[in-house]
Amino acid sequence: MHIIVLGGGPGGHAAAFEAARLGADVTLVERDRLGGTCLNWGCIPTKTILRSAHIVADTRNARKFGLNAAVASVDVEALRARKEGVVDELVGQVEGTARRLKVRVVEGEGVLADPRSVRVTRADGGVETVTGDAVILATGSVVFKLPSIDHEMPGVWTSDDAVSLVDIPKDIVIIGGGVIGLEFACAYAAFGSRVAVVELMEQVLPGNDRRVVKQTQASLEAMGVEFYLGDAVERVERAGERMSSTLRSGTTLESDVVMSAVGRVPNSAGFGFEEAGIELDRRAVKVDADFRTSVEGVYAVGDLIGGMMLAHVAEEEGVIAARNAVAELSTVGAEAQLESVRYDCIPACVYTFPNVAVVGSSRDAAKERGIDAVQAVAKFAANGKALGEGEAEGFVQVVAEKGSGRIIGCQIVGPHAVETIHEVALAMREDLTVLEVAEMVHAHPTVSEVIKMACRDAAGKCGC
Ligand SMILES: Cc1cc2nc3c(=O)[nH]c(=O)nc-3n(C[C@H](O)[C@H](O)[C@H](O)COP(=O)(O)OP(=O)(O)OC[C@H]3O[C@@H](n4cnc5c(N)ncnc54)[C@H](O)[C@@H]3O)c2cc1C
Repeated sequence: MHIIVLGGGPGGHAAAFEAARLGADVTLVERDRLGGTCLNWGCIPTKTILRSAHIVADTRNARKFGLNAAVASVDVEALRARKEGVVDELVGQVEGTARRLKVRVVEGEGVLADPRSVRVTRADGGVETVTGDAVILATGSVVFKLPSIDHEMPGVWTSDDAVSLVDIPKDIVIIGGGVIGLEFACAYAAFGSRVAVVELMEQVLPGNDRRVVKQTQASLEAMGVEFYLGDAVERVERAGERMSSTLRSGTTLESDVVMSAVGRVPNSAGFGFEEAGIELDRRAVKVDADFRTSVEGVYAVGDLIGGMMLAHVAEEEGVIAARNAVAELSTVGAEAQLESVRYDCIPACVYTFPNVAVVGSSRDAAKERGIDAVQAVAKFAANGKALGEGEAEGFVQVVAEKGSGRIIGCQIVGPHAVETIHEVALAMREDLTVLEVAEMVHAHPTVSEVIKMACRDAAGKCGC
């Protein structure tokens, strides 16, 4: 059994490794470095940069902690070297796993030649056609570029430029108040840049719960970030070394850099997908719940299929698609047992200061789904660990079904939220109630005690 995987990001390499573990021969085609957007341009570079930004922010507050420390300044070259070190280490580990599992990695750009073959133009210029029994497509996503802005103009950045760390701008206009825009706003504000965020919608983090949005915006404003909400950058011009952004409202913002962070789109064009008969929904490859495309034997996962465009989602989809491909190829004369992904308990995180982490639905979203839900909020301001750490901003908000106490969702803004959310995600996956989480003994002092408090309050409101 030979499975070909196109794209070596978290979706693709997870699929390749799972297929190999299940006994398939695997060829993984990657045109750049293994690890994809996540390791090379996204999750890991940004979190490495944010760690340095957090140290700067802490140093600025040193007096509050009873310390005399000079305000940290940024050594961009050293910052870049550290980021590259972390990325190289992780890419090396993925390469090592590929070798250990005997996954053949072909370096080059692949095109789906037919539903069982990928034609690769290798990095060395040679062309090779790899033929297998099934193909898993995992070509990820690319930066969406606003047509009104000339992205070739010096001073116009995307997240790819920002993580390349050429410079820390004196001032920056960020177009887009979503996850990527806010993480960079937070990092640059901590580094001392003057930051303005322009967002088309009337709120940052569109689609998120109101309390989450309000707290996040307030925390970033306290760091000096300015917001222009319900507005849009209509024109960007360069005058000498400076950029000038004209907003729809008529406001003009001057800056060193304008960064576009308006989202990403599935990377589906130019690789022979449509020619092979694969159906798209706008730019996303259409799949069923088992990650099968409209063409038999061809599966697709990750950012390429749209939905929750997150690394851990891509990874999980890759694992499940590989299992399904192996199951379909090895089941003869019966229907293969296929798996799907439970999206309702996958966390989504924003690594601003403080962190944001959500799982499941807000109360409003639960109402829209016809669920009679209660909501309970506990604040970090009453938590010993958070106060001791000097990070007592924020809250845990738990949403549970009235009567049963089943957890429908949780929204956390506060310290270590990106870690503590998993307690609730696991509880949701295992169908635990708010009472069961509240009855679990939480170590003291921990910020997780706030989850326990919110769950206890929710249990009372649920009547369970
Ligand atoms: C700035 C930024 C920060 C982010 N932060 C987070 C975060 O904190 N947490 C999180 O969960 N997600 C984050 N993401 C999103 C995350 O990076 C993506 O969801 C994830 O990488 C998607 O994985 P994927 O495998 O589907 O695609 P990708 O990671 O994009 O991988 C696709 C791979 O396919 C290769 N490829 C494409 N076409 C071809 C071809 N024709 N032939 C050969 N190879 C090809 C590409 O080179 C690439 O390596 C972030 C993204 C960005 C941009």
